[in-house]
Formats: sequence, C-alpha cells, structure tokens
Amino acid sequence: MLATLPLEQEKNPWLAAEVRFNRAAEKLKMDDGMRKVLSMPAREITVSIPVMLDDGRLEVFIGYRVQHSIARGPGKGGIRYAPDVSLDEVRALASWMTWKCAVVNIPFGGAKGGVICNPNLMSDNELERLTRRYTAGIIEMIGPERDIPAPDMNTNERVMAWIMDTYAMHVGHATTAVVTGKPMELGGSRGRKEATGRGCMIVTLEALKKFGLRPEDTRVVIQGFGNVGGMAARLMARAGFRIIGIVEYNGAVYNRNGLDIEALMLHRQETGSIVGFDGGEDIDRHEAMFLDCDVLVPAATENVITSENAANLRCRILCEGANGPTTAIADEILADKKIFVIPDILANAGGVTVSYFEWVQDRQGFFWNEDLVNSRLEEIMVGSFGAVTAYGEKHRVDNRTAAYMLALDRVGCAMRLRGLYA
Ligand code: NAD
Repeated sequence: MLATLPLEQEKNPWLAAEVRFNRAAEKLKMDDGMRKVLSMPAREITVSIPVMLDDGRLEVFIGYRVQHSIARGPGKGGIRYAPDVSLDEVRALASWMTWKCAVVNIPFGGAKGGVICNPNLMSDNELERLTRRYTAGIIEMIGPERDIPAPDMNTNERVMAWIMDTYAMHVGHATTAVVTGKPMELGGSRGRKEATGRGCMIVTLEALKKFGLRPEDTRVVIQGFGNVGGMAARLMARAGFRIIGIVEYNGAVYNRNGLDIEALMLHRQETGSIVGFDGGEDIDRHEAMFLDCDVLVPAATENVITSENAANLRCRILCEGANGPTTAIADEILADKKIFVIPDILANAGGVTVSYFEWVQDRQGFFWNEDLVNSRLEEIMVGSFGAVTAYGEKHRVDNRTAAYMLALDRVGCAMRLRGLYA
C-alpha cells in the first residue's frame, strides 16, 4: 500500500515516523498496549501568542510544545519558527527526538516546539516579544528537569538567550540549563557548533572499517553546506577524505581529486554562493547527488531521497546528516541496492549529544575544554554505531530498523520499570 502513495503523502513526516515505528515494533513483537503508549505524545500544549507589532497592530500567533516521551528523562528538542509549522509535524519531530536520544543512550526523552510565523517578515523586536510571550505560554512545561528546548529551523542562540532570560525572570534566578544551544557567554558548550558534523564524520569513519576503506580512498558528496554539511565537509577534509562534490540549493561544485573545502568556504563568504569556484567545476545540482561516490551525506533538508530518485543513487554509504532526508518508501529501494545507511537518528545525534553535555556543564557550573567535549562525543558516537550495527546483525535487519528497535526497546524498558501510576 505504501508503494502506491502519491509523492506528497510519501513526504508526510508523521507517516515517516509511523512507518518506522511500526516496522520496529513488529520486529520486537511489542504488545499492543506498549505500542499505544509509545506512539502517543505524553503531553502537548497549544498557545496563542498575542504580539504587539512595530506598527501598533496586535497580531496573534499560534505556538506548540509537544513532549512525546519523558520516560527516560526530561524532554529534549528544538523550537522552530516557520509559516508551515503544524501540530502533526511537531508531534512527529518530537517522537524522532525520543528515538534519537534513546539510540545514543543519553538521559532525555523527546520533545519539540514550533510557532507559526514568518521570521523573515518580522523585526528583531517583534521576534523577541514573540519568543518571550511563547516562553511564558509554555513555562509550566519547560525547565532543566522537565523539558529543555534548543534551536531548530529559524531559531538560534539569540532566541535561546531570550527564552533563558524569560524563564529566569519567572523563577527568580538564572537558570542556564533550561535551554541548550546558548551563546558561550551564557553557559553554551564548546564544540556545540561542530558537533553534528563531527558526529557524522565519526560514524562514517566507523562505517569505512566495514568496507576496508581508508579516508584517502573515500570519495564523498555532501548536500547542504550549512552548519551540518559545512562542518562535516571541513572535518572530513581534514581527516583526509576526498570531498568530490558539494550540492547547494542554487548550484553544485565538483572536483574528482577533492575540493579544497577551506577555499570553498572563503569563496562562498566572498561571493555568497558556492557557484563559480575556481577549484572545481559547476555541475547540475539535480544530478550532483547521483554522482558515483563512496559516501553521500544529505545534510540540507528532509525528503530529498524518495521513491522517485532513490534508484539513481550511486553511493555505498549513506550518512543522513539531515533529519528525515529519506522517505519510508525509499528505505526499501536503498535496501535492495545494498546501500549501507547510517540513519538520521544515529548519524546526526552528535548535536543533541553535545547539547546534553551543555546541560550537564550548566548544572555542574563547571565547563569542559573542547578536547574533552570532542573525546566524550566520539566515545558516545562510536559506541552507538557499534550498538546499532551489532543489533542489526543479530536481528538480521537494516541499520534504520535496528536503530529504531534499540530505541523502542530502551524506552519500553524504562516504561516497564517505572510502571503505571494510576
Ligand atoms: P543550515 O540552514 O545551517 O544549512 C542547510 C544548508 O542546506 C543551507 O546552506 C541551505 O542553503 C542548503 N539547502 C537547503 N535546501 C537545499 C536543497 N534542497 N538542496 C541543496 N541544499 C539545500 O541547517 P543545518 O543546521 O545544517 O541543518 C541541516 C539539516 O540537519 C536539517 O534537516 C536539520 O534538521 C538537521 N540537523 C541539524 C542539526 C544541527 O545541529 N544544526 C542537528 C541535527 C539535525
């Protein structure tokens, strides 16, 4: 039935979450009761957010916060500002966070928030008022022991500082651990900006061992040259990988001998685009993802690998830097092609792992140097990669199903140990 869905439905995030959840629950032979509990959000809130606009008009925005699970610890997940945010999307993203935190075994549940707005059309003052009022609306739900927001689409460390300040004003004392992804001056962690890209590199290095490849022999194509893709490109290039292609929304650049990533970053900084870089040739951005390569890192956005194009991929390893880059239907095509998938809930978990370190440091009031952050991140990513692949081999399932099974198992176990409070 899945295979006949129209493309628009195939791209529905709730469907993607549900299909993977059901596949894993089935394999685990999870009973219906536990399935019901784990598939429903534990708590959700919708708030209306009145904001006085700069021109004196009063506008009301709608915001959500969903805690999918708080069985293993406080909720954890970003807040996005976008015109097309919906409660269904926020629910799906919150459940992804539950599974992601469980895969890397950090003591958090999953949560997500969103506000329907267009931040590009709003002034800084309007955004600040929106953020503070939204924070006041969800204040009973968040807190270092309850639910810890972080940046997501169109929110950043400045927004986190406003949330932290609003929360602190309500409780009457500075509470840095209420959000992560904060500025360094307010309790942010060293290594956070690079963490997701670094995590992608670490799990890719682990995957190479299975193929007997060395970084020097490994050709990599990366889609997205932003925080995740840019950092992954920089760190992989430093580790010796040959980054032969970078794909952006407005063009792609190719060099079969490997791109000079630092020079490409400089070029983008100077010209505003990766196009026209003299250390490579411009190629069609629609074809770049299908270059013959060893590793493809989709690190831009969701739903870029679908039933329509998955058969054209020519990579051996797919490292999902973005959230949800592959639709559930495309999963089966990748399996047929024997592509080794490092699923998003493992591959990009470096970000939430260092967010966890940030929360720990804030609560200790004692900050780590970057080497310590990076070595602890490496320990968790290498261990999680090993756990997922071993689980997959033991149960004869693909890596994504293994990651979900491991996560469901861990969250289910926490639920059983806690028992039902009735
Ligand atoms: P970003 O905005 O910094 O970078 C995204 C880049 O991708 C931009 O340069 C943009 O121009 C480009 N892009 C967008 N659509 C594209 C397309 N269709 N084709 C090619 N390029 C395109 O965002 P980011 O923080 O790097 O996040 C990227 C993805 O990784 C998202 O799915 C995000 O949810 C996920 N993610 C991010 C983090 C994190 O720590 N930043 C953590 C986990 C997951």
